[in-house]
Amino acid sequence: MNQINYLRISLIDRCNFRCVYCMPDDTELNYILKKQLLTNDELLTLIKDVFIPVGFNRFRLTGGEPLLRPGVVDLVNKIAHFPQTQDLSMTTNGFLLAPLAQDLYNAGLTRINISLDSLNPHTFNLIIGHHSSHGWEQVWCGIQSADKVGFNPLKLNVVVIPGVNDHEILNLAALTLDKNWHVRFIEFMPIGNNTLFSDRGWVSSAQLRDQIRQRWGLTESQVCGSGPADVFQIPGAKGTLGFISQMSECFCDRCNRVRLSADGWLRPCLLNESGQIDLKTALRSSQTMEQLQQQVRELLNLKSEINFKERNPGTLGTYSRTMSQIGG
Ligand code: SAM
Ligand code: SF4
Repeated sequence: MNQINYLRISLIDRCNFRCVYCMPDDTELNYILKKQLLTNDELLTLIKDVFIPVGFNRFRLTGGEPLLRPGVVDLVNKIAHFPQTQDLSMTTNGFLLAPLAQDLYNAGLTRINISLDSLNPHTFNLIIGHHSSHGWEQVWCGIQSADKVGFNPLKLNVVVIPGVNDHEILNLAALTLDKNWHVRFIEFMPIGNNTLFSDRGWVSSAQLRDQIRQRWGLTESQVCGSGPADVFQIPGAKGTLGFISQMSECFCDRCNRVRLSADGWLRPCLLNESGQIDLKTALRSSQTMEQLQQQVRELLNLKSEINFKERNPGTLGTYSRTMSQIGG
């Protein structure tokens, strides 16, 4: 059985973007009320006294937009300095990154993933929903700052939506030619905006690889990540290309992660809603740390049975939380 040691932590469900694939365009989202959010102290207690003792040592901060979380640099500093922490990373949309990149790096964040779905500012604005006209430029500036500060690896996440940004695959892949950047194409999943998903569908990683192979050739990379991405490289390129194919392939058997939402729900599988436990209520009801550890252990024991192996229309039904609420 896989050792499950990787926790993805949603710091906040709110976001300064409203990406078309992540949030529904026509409904008001019910944001978590402030009093329902785990406080910074509660989060640190859960990591130190519950997750680390049951074997977690890799953490990723996500959201919503994690850089909107008050005190995010201090949180990074504290999590990075737990002696058991072996890896601390973040997934961000990059909009607020430029002025924070150095502080985050100094605090102990070494790896960062930045979402960048288009190189065209107009298309970018269409994807991120209503926003300032400088959205793309500001994110690009965040990417440049992260690069300058020394984040390594620096990964760029791309969700491919047919008819929206699928014509940019080659331009996005070309970013890896001269830079040691890692562009990761993520298959569009039916979480967040079901209408868009049924209207547009999704593009498989195999189709993307074919396009790239025809242009430059493509080899399997020697740099092999421990995550769900299949990693390739354009011959001679400095960076790599990752493909996350949760719609067309099944990597449940090598899954080593669980997710903690900003309001303290622990979720064993991104694409299956069963088995979640409410750690915040348990923590606030004065259960002992041993009792919380036991609850987490029981969830981990069930994890291999809670998965996304049945890729049928039933499993592709409506999810009650968006990616921004789960912590994608
Ligand atoms: N706000 C941050 C960001 O955008 O990078 C972090 C949170 S976001 C929910 C984490 C990742 O989930 C992003 O890379 C985003 O592109 C991806 N994502 C969101 N909705 C998705 C969907 N429906 N299908 C596939 N990936 C999705
Ligand atoms: Fe916000 Fe990230 Fe979702 Fe886009 S993908 S709306 S940036 S949480």
